[in-house]
Amino acid sequence: MTTTTAGRPRWVDDEGAALGEVARDFFQTEVVPHFERFDQQKHVDREVWLKAGALGLLCCEVPDEYGGGGGTFAHEAVVLSEQARAGDTGLGLQVHSGVVAQYLVIHGTEEQKARWLPGMASGDIVGAVAMSEPGAGTDLKNVRTRATRGGDHYLLNGSKTFISNGAQCDLLIVVAKTDPAAGRNGISLLVLETAAAPGFRRGRTLDKLGLHGQDTAELFFDDVPVPVENLLGAEGAGFGMLMRELPRERLVIAVTAVAAMERALEETIAYVKTREVFGAPLFAMQHVKFELAELATIVRASRVFLDDCVEKFCAGTLDPATASMAKWWLTQNQCDVTDRCLQLFGGYGYMREYLISRLYADARAQKIYGGTNEVMKDLISRTL
Ligand SMILES: Cc1cc2nc3c(=O)[nH]c(=O)nc-3n(C[C@H](O)[C@H](O)[C@H](O)COP(=O)(O)OP(=O)(O)OC[C@H]3O[C@@H](n4cnc5c(N)ncnc54)[C@H](O)[C@@H]3O)c2cc1C
Repeated sequence: MTTTTAGRPRWVDDEGAALGEVARDFFQTEVVPHFERFDQQKHVDREVWLKAGALGLLCCEVPDEYGGGGGTFAHEAVVLSEQARAGDTGLGLQVHSGVVAQYLVIHGTEEQKARWLPGMASGDIVGAVAMSEPGAGTDLKNVRTRATRGGDHYLLNGSKTFISNGAQCDLLIVVAKTDPAAGRNGISLLVLETAAAPGFRRGRTLDKLGLHGQDTAELFFDDVPVPVENLLGAEGAGFGMLMRELPRERLVIAVTAVAAMERALEETIAYVKTREVFGAPLFAMQHVKFELAELATIVRASRVFLDDCVEKFCAGTLDPATASMAKWWLTQNQCDVTDRCLQLFGGYGYMREYLISRLYADARAQKIYGGTNEVMKDLISRTL
């Protein structure tokens, strides 16, 4: 992984560092030059997924017997860090590798893993997870999407919104009620193979404030048959499975938050050293130096906290409250740091051709998805 001013994190071994170099090169050659086009079309090219898969950048943590990298969360985090450092948010790795593949690894049957994971690792199958609905985001147990059992299949009815990778996904984990009277115990996870699924419809790819290259979509289900063997885990166990995986999802977001703010700071330091005002570089001004000194301190402290969380997660000791702390605090820092960095660019910072404007706009969603930051604080407060 790119060595920062804080040095190489302890959780990155030599193998991880080598993987980071492959990832860095991949994003610089296959993604960054195409930002504008991906933004316009609101998704990355399908070939990008396949190239990432061929280089071993997808599903690093999936065991090699299922086609994955056979690594640990640290390897996944290395790739996510390099992506964020490159300023890319189009390729939906957070969800694909960081979330969906792990649901299958942890909760899938042997048959399910053998069927889907090799394709996810190669990039032939793009994964997504559909929890949120127009009437149920934070309040997940109120989802209205129904899965009604009939013989050897369920019939899926309802709609989802804000689904990352929604426009491109081939495999969709759908959160649905199998027993509406049972509250959270009536929620199940069904794996929908979207290709030619009757009654499945993708709505528009949504227009967003940032993350323009990321295909975030509305999805509709109208009597969509899903074979019973596509049920993930036990019927009614979906809510517990979702809760169990939350620390990982929060850490995935935190990893990208820190890498993105490190990049924002580097961009800004380079800029203020070359931009001249009143006959001297901006960096000569005490305000600018002090501003950057403060930002560098925030970024360094963020890195140290994140590294501690990643080490704990890899050791199996990261508790949910600390994962929530990492998610809210690091994404808040990401937004604050990119905002203050952008300010130092003056009007140029507001122009889309400058990376800092992308880093600023893309940061904002991080405080919302993966559980809003308010929810994080609520969860933390319950442990106090
Ligand atoms: C770019 C993007 C990508 C996304 N990708 C996905 C995806 O792949 N899959 C998916 O399922 N969803 C996805 N989401 C949806 C996201 O998870 C939800 O937007 C989020 O959970 C919030 O739900 P909501 O939008 O319905 O807001 P609401 O639940 O309506 O919340 C509105 C406000 O009320 C606050 N609030 C709600 N409850 C409480 C409470 N108890 N205490 C204090 N404050 C509270 C919230 O924090 C928020 O500030 C994505 C969203 C975005 C923006």
